Amino acid sequence: MNIILIGPPGSGKGVQAQLLSTQYDIPHISVGALFREQIKKRTLIGQQAESYVKKGQLVPDKITVTLLLRRIRQRDAQRGYILDGFPRTEEQMKLFHYHIPPQLVFYIHVPPRLTIKRIAGRRQCSRCGKIYGTSLQEQKKGHCDACQGLLITREDDRPPIVKKRLDIFKQEITPILRWYKEQEVLIRIDGTKSIKTVNAQITAHLQTTARQKQ
Ligand SMILES: [Zn+2]
Repeated sequence: MNIILIGPPGSGKGVQAQLLSTQYDIPHISVGALFREQIKKRTLIGQQAESYVKKGQLVPDKITVTLLLRRIRQRDAQRGYILDGFPRTEEQMKLFHYHIPPQLVFYIHVPPRLTIKRIAGRRQCSRCGKIYGTSLQEQKKGHCDACQGLLITREDDRPPIVKKRLDIFKQEITPILRWYKEQEVLIRIDGTKSIKTVNAQITAHLQTTARQKQ
């Protein structure tokens, strides 16, 4: 099953991708994580990407798609993949679709008001980067479970900046959603519900699609 998860920051798509990966035994592929790995390993593609990032420019779509296709052709992704954080541009979407089209694209919709509230409540470990959510239990914590680092609110997570991030996201994603809708692969999911309920909505659609294929 080839799946793409799209959602604004704070929609929980990373958590959902992780869950689906375990449930269906297919890899969760995050383009951001792929790039970080390549940069760390100092591969050719990693060095190319880094040179753009250092200049404050976006990595060209062709490089992003090449890296992603390479990952998807590995053995563990032969039965399918779950993409998170891709595509970000129409060009990426079309280049990718030409090679390995997704069967289902889930758009996890969360209204901006709720996104801002969710993100403003989250904190990050200043040492290892682990993210802490907004549950009461997590809010009481002052230090990271994993490394004892101090928990802080990231500058990026403050409401005015989140609002700006959401505006950019909306601009980027509108033509992409329109196109996937035309391809009849887009499913809208109510992302205001709990992690468990959102997961149940997604798996219900996956089961229906799997049955139709038989
Ligand atoms: Zn930590």
